[in-house]
Amino acid sequence: MDRRITKEELKLAVTEAYKRFRENREGKNADYIPYLAHIDSNLFGIAVCLPGGETITVGDCDYRFGIESISKVATALLVLKDYGPETIMDMIGADATGMPFNSVLAILLENEHPSTPLVNAGAISAVSMVRPVGNSCGKWEAIQSNINQLCGNVLPLIDELYKSESASNSNNRAIAWLLKNYGRIYDEPEISLDLYTRQCSLGVTAKELSIMAATIACSGYNPVTKKSVFPPQLTEKITSMMATVGLYEYTGDWMFRCGIPAKSGVGGGIIGVLPGIFGIAAFSPPIDKAGNSVRAQLAIRYIMEQLRLNIFSGERVVIV
Ligand code: GLU
Repeated sequence: MDRRITKEELKLAVTEAYKRFRENREGKNADYIPYLAHIDSNLFGIAVCLPGGETITVGDCDYRFGIESISKVATALLVLKDYGPETIMDMIGADATGMPFNSVLAILLENEHPSTPLVNAGAISAVSMVRPVGNSCGKWEAIQSNINQLCGNVLPLIDELYKSESASNSNNRAIAWLLKNYGRIYDEPEISLDLYTRQCSLGVTAKELSIMAATIACSGYNPVTKKSVFPPQLTEKITSMMATVGLYEYTGDWMFRCGIPAKSGVGGGIIGVLPGIFGIAAFSPPIDKAGNSVRAQLAIRYIMEQLRLNIFSGERVVIV
């Protein structure tokens, strides 16, 4: 028999998480991208989107911030859809590197071994695979249209962030060219780097991210727009990637404690996906050493614990 959690219980847990962690002062804004250092550190929002399309929001859920690495999930889905999972395994892979998200060393050590589209190297490879290869404008349209369909809204580019990141992305440029050296990039390195930087600079709200997470939780069906965005069998593929490396080198600790596949971005957002149950997103700029928002982690963990939810429990749960 399914365990029933009421929407009121869920709302209560979300509100309580917000109250508990709003005053937390741990972590600090990412500053290796100058734009991010200046975002108000007090911003904090939590949003949950249910399979029926209802969203529960508390705090700053309409504030538009840099999507950063959460865009990697969207573009991974795009190439998974376009090429199929086995080709993605061959051309990129799905293994964690155990190293920071922008590690050059990981490419040197594992050049024979593919990485994952959820860290910078694999994400730049994924962008390079987006069709039409060689056509920057066409690729950008495909990337944007896919993210928009997942989020159920048109995400604008934060121009200032894009400029700030383009002016400070030498490490990612090194990654793109190293991928070229090992034959693991499938379009011009500079085009791929630029599109990767641009997708990271899209502005998104916590509410929109919860809709993206819910679309993944609902097997590719966006519960708000009522449109199908990707084939149902890709939910297990993308959630397995999130469960492997979504919070970078802290992912094992995260999965052990919280039991929810998640993906963070250095802009302060985190999405979490509980297939069939809900999509959750939390946002707050201060991040920990690995690049994961401190308040967002605390909030999602609290909600998971309060409601005794865990992807590994095997228990069937419905929200009514
Ligand atoms: N655009 C950022 C970078 O490439 C994304 C990092 C992140 O959010 O983890 O460094």
